[in-house]
Amino acid sequence: MSSIRVHPGAWETMLAHARAAYPDECCGAMLGTGGEVRVAVPLENSFAGSRRTRYQVSPEDLLAATREARQGGLQLIGIYHSHPDRDAYFSETDLKNSCPWYRFLVLSMKGGVFDHAACWQPNPEQTEAARVELDLPI
Ligand SMILES: [Zn+2]
Repeated sequence: MSSIRVHPGAWETMLAHARAAYPDECCGAMLGTGGEVRVAVPLENSFAGSRRTRYQVSPEDLLAATREARQGGLQLIGIYHSHPDRDAYFSETDLKNSCPWYRFLVLSMKGGVFDHAACWQPNPEQTEAARVELDLPI
């Protein structure tokens, strides 16, 4: 099983973003190197429908995040999003809208409070996602 480690500053950014967006889903970029998430960049949930159960990252935002990562000597290694009042599973929709070359961190927010998190890596066919070991600063 592959693993990622989230640095404290990046984790605080994700948590604060998930809390602020609740009861909607939040989403953002995870920048780092290898299996290390050093910076989290909150992005806009651009899904046009109900954002309580869906998120969408615009290609423009993703491109900007990739540029920002490169400028800082980092890479875009994944996407995080929150699941308000749901567990941190990887849904069919999440899988369909994913990319096999990114890791996907999901934060479960119960009643607006962080409950647990899980990280996923889709297979190349995007038919299933394997669990990635997650090392959080908590
Ligand atoms: Zn999801």
